[in-house]
Amino acid sequence: MTDIPETQSAPPGVSLEQSWGTALAAVVCERCDWGFLIPEAVDLGRCPHCFQPTLGRIDQDVSQLPYTQPPELIIPYALSEAQLSQEIQRFASGIPYPPQDLVSKNLQARLQRVFLPMWLVDASVQAAWKAETGFNYQVVSHQDRYSGSGWASQQVKEGRVRWEPRLGRLDRIYTNIAAPALEDHAILQAALGEFNLTAVRTYQPEDTRKAFVRLPSRSPQDAWSDAQLALFNAAAEECRQAARADHLRQFSWQPEFTEQHWTQLLLPVYTAYYLDDDRQPQLLLIHGQSGKMNGVRRASMKRATRSALTVLGIAVLIFILGLILGGASLAVPPLLVPAILALALALLVGLGAIIPPVRAGWFNRSQKP
Ligand SMILES: [Zn+2]
Repeated sequence: MTDIPETQSAPPGVSLEQSWGTALAAVVCERCDWGFLIPEAVDLGRCPHCFQPTLGRIDQDVSQLPYTQPPELIIPYALSEAQLSQEIQRFASGIPYPPQDLVSKNLQARLQRVFLPMWLVDASVQAAWKAETGFNYQVVSHQDRYSGSGWASQQVKEGRVRWEPRLGRLDRIYTNIAAPALEDHAILQAALGEFNLTAVRTYQPEDTRKAFVRLPSRSPQDAWSDAQLALFNAAAEECRQAARADHLRQFSWQPEFTEQHWTQLLLPVYTAYYLDDDRQPQLLLIHGQSGKMNGVRRASMKRATRSALTVLGIAVLIFILGLILGGASLAVPPLLVPAILALALALLVGLGAIIPPVRAGWFNRSQKP
């Protein structure tokens, strides 16, 4: 095992401004506790997570904060306006009586770029390893089968694996092994889906210009166990390749890690919100590559009630028509049948008026918070 630096804000003698390429301020939301780095010159505004004006600057010298290692790689935003608009429509279409505020134009105006951090660690590894390497080979045999015209011999090929024990030494530097930097990483990943890592490029200071960069909430010490697992898998795959084997099993190693270097990978996410019936902001998280949208879907009881009142109004009109026809049937008896039909129809339509609020209420109860 090796020492993991508790804080490695920047290489010695390099300020945060130098390592990030721009002057940054650290802020934290008093309500949801998400912490961010934002460009020094930007007004505080609202928290891009809970949308309350509860952001406060962290008084501590930013260069002394833990986990502000400079970003090395970034996945750029890759979502067109048309794609985003389509995703918003898809999200809204799953809601009966969606709130009036939930429209593409509003959400586009409220989009906020938020980068989520992942740890990237470079490590030098010296290890003794052993494993069983597997090699594919084919066995050819003959099977005799009886058909109507007599016995026929048929060649059968069967794939098998030959296993051989191997051991060796490994001396390697692994770069950019990724590990979660947020306590809620798994929840966010489940909500948004995977990121396409092949799109990574080198971080540039302009990337943070209009964005919030979320501060890691998980230390390199905590993340190290995940990184070690990734290193183990990478080493096993390399040993398989070096042995030119088709398979590898029972891989084990006694590693020693030295020269760790921790940087960050930034993942692109948008946040936005829509206002529900009570004018409360409902958070939407949007994947910056795929556009996948995650948020609580709330049906509008106000809209559902308005629909119900419209239906009820129609029922009343039919009822009045039924009464008029009923009255007229005293003079013209054949009108009695349409009068009864109209009254029955009015009753049916009137009962139908309860459907919109029941449907909206049932939908809201079915949504997980
Ligand atoms: Zn907040």
